[in-house]
Amino acid sequence: KVPVLTIDGPGGAGKGTISSLVAERLGWHLLDSGALYRLTAQAAVKHGVALDDEPALATIAAELDVAFPVEEGQPRTLLEGEEVGQTIRTEQAGERASQVAALPLVRAALLQRQRDFCQTPGLVADGRDMGTVVFPDAPLKIFLTASAEERARRRHLQLQEAGVGASLSSLLKEIQARDARDTQRSVAPLKPADDAITLDTTRLSIPEVVDQLTELLAQ
Ligand code: C5P
Repeated sequence: KVPVLTIDGPGGAGKGTISSLVAERLGWHLLDSGALYRLTAQAAVKHGVALDDEPALATIAAELDVAFPVEEGQPRTLLEGEEVGQTIRTEQAGERASQVAALPLVRAALLQRQRDFCQTPGLVADGRDMGTVVFPDAPLKIFLTASAEERARRRHLQLQEAGVGASLSSLLKEIQARDARDTQRSVAPLKPADDAITLDTTRLSIPEVVDQLTELLAQ
């Protein structure tokens, strides 16, 4: 059986960075499930589909033409053959992703596609419902959190490095709004799996978290 490590948690807790570092260290595949929701929303906007048209969005999700090739060590994201670059990483793209992610038919349409990422020698699955819905049998489930203030601070730093101006208070508001939507939705709400280990990263550095996860995996 192919081993799966699930890493769930709210936005900005460092899941993306941590997941890719752990996957790299183990030589395992990586599933960035948030990217699938972001790309579904992006494809909908591209094709003029409203973000509350559930049946049409489910069709878009089911037929989503995406690829994640790695070229010269650089991961790329292709939507319908075109590089999307950082366009799916904006706050607006995250907001749209969280809107379409609240729709049960969209989640159902993406379920098998996510499970297909589970291939030898192993998978690190990053998302909100990896441990609760997509890979309920995963032997190690992590719930990564950090205070909303710390997550806003990290996001602020990230945007500053990218040369994007944003106020800390508006980022905090956006994070809190997205947390509320993700935890309160009726389908696959954000919550730790019963057998998940919660790791609060508020006061931990990235290498410290990666080391802790590697130790847990070795147990
Ligand atoms: O993790 P990321 O910020 O890229 O996810 C964007 C949005 O997609 C989240 O706010 C959440 O609403 C949704 N999502 C989800 N289930 C996942 C991954 C992401 O509902 N497994």
